[in-house]
Amino acid sequence: MKMESHDRLRRSLLKLPLLAALPAISSAKSLPLLSGNTQPLPTGNSMERTLLLKNAECVVCMDADRREIGNASILIKGNKILAVGEARSLPDSADEIIDLRGHIVIPGLINTHHHMYQSLTRAIPAVQNGELFNWLTHLYPLWQNLTPEMIHISTQISMAELMLSGCTTTSDHLYVYPNGCKLDDSIEAAALMGMRFHASRGSMSVGKSLGGLPPDALVEDEAAILKDTQRVIERYHDDSHGSMLRIVVAPCSPFSVSRELMKQSAAMARSFNVSMHTHLAENDSDIRYSREKFNMTPAQYVEDLGWVGPDVWHAHCVKLDQHGIELFARTGTGVAHCPCSNMRLGSGIAPIRHMCDAGVHVGMGVDGSASNDSSDMMAEVRQAMLLQRVGFGPDAMTARQALELATLGGAKVLNRDDVGTIAPGMMADLAIFDLNRIGLAGAGHDPVAALVFCNPGQVAYSIINGKVRVRDGQVAGIELPAVLRQHNQLARKLAG
Ligand SMILES: [Zn+2]
Repeated sequence: MKMESHDRLRRSLLKLPLLAALPAISSAKSLPLLSGNTQPLPTGNSMERTLLLKNAECVVCMDADRREIGNASILIKGNKILAVGEARSLPDSADEIIDLRGHIVIPGLINTHHHMYQSLTRAIPAVQNGELFNWLTHLYPLWQNLTPEMIHISTQISMAELMLSGCTTTSDHLYVYPNGCKLDDSIEAAALMGMRFHASRGSMSVGKSLGGLPPDALVEDEAAILKDTQRVIERYHDDSHGSMLRIVVAPCSPFSVSRELMKQSAAMARSFNVSMHTHLAENDSDIRYSREKFNMTPAQYVEDLGWVGPDVWHAHCVKLDQHGIELFARTGTGVAHCPCSNMRLGSGIAPIRHMCDAGVHVGMGVDGSASNDSSDMMAEVRQAMLLQRVGFGPDAMTARQALELATLGGAKVLNRDDVGTIAPGMMADLAIFDLNRIGLAGAGHDPVAALVFCNPGQVAYSIINGKVRVRDGQVAGIELPAVLRQHNQLARKLAG
């Protein structure tokens, strides 16, 4: 199936509301409009405040019709999008107005795979040139010294970097819990940063002495893993529309947990109706381990375990075979595509073109910051487009298709119907880029494609859940220079 017909199929499956009739905004206040400036006004109920993003050069809706609206405005009320359309069709007053002349607006990008603690171990000399298993075995001893403070600070830094690159919803896969570290440490950091968060309770239970890859000191007891997983689900998981926090059950990989833990984790996830996530078929060593240990391909293994379905997504799948692709398409199983990490570790080129043609749900992920070594979502989108072309020819992926993976694709993979699209009723999660940045110079012929082909730089604004989280290029709510200093001190401590 060609991409075009696949698009049509997906469009027919999407039942998104188009531009709704505008309700009267009785509380709206008129404000003088200053070019390039914002005009906040305090109001009593912040959830009911209106925010008007006015006169954007282009709004990329990623809605059912893939509309790209020129000279457009977006009206937000509370944490939801109330209306989107040509500027002249929307009201010109609100509690706050941001003038977006010379800017482009896209749905906030969705990151489906990360290990944020790894931002403390970027570019470690000993692992700059290793493949996956070699890279992991050298890093595990460093990660054994992680502390709750390190998890907290590295999550803040990773989220700031993600937000500045256009990401508004992110997952994180935390699978090492030494020295009292808890998933709560990253959850608290996410709340401070105001990011929409899918926190994955990862785990490792099969250490070296049992034939696994991690050192015994870094694995947990399986009963304790399940108990803590249940605790975080019961304490934090919110499955409501517009949820800012969901928990995911996420044993690390087939080579670091037992078959029993995979099965018990799935049973628990399904009893609570939460999603499941792991690494799969990342490189040739991973395939070899699966064949030697389980006498199965990774796809056969997850099929046997019941780790397929619309509530499951697997990271990488670089070596997913034809049977696996058909299985994933048939069962609605998702894939997190992480091209930078796949290139960095020399893992290979994931057959994303083929997966999309077959109907597999594919989202984008930056992967951990020790194998990227960046949390830049727009850079990841660009690499997805370029790498598919290396593997499968220059028409293997267009700029818009790559952008679609990071928006609609990510929403599908994370099982969300409230983000990834700019349309009335959707959550107000937006990434806004200044088209007058040097990296986009001369690319005005097609500003949408230019975001992917060129280097758009950091966002001018990031809006998450209706709140302006990046304003004029600055992350709100944290003293970034101070947190960066702390992060770098902790990184030195960890590596030393
Ligand atoms: Zn990973």
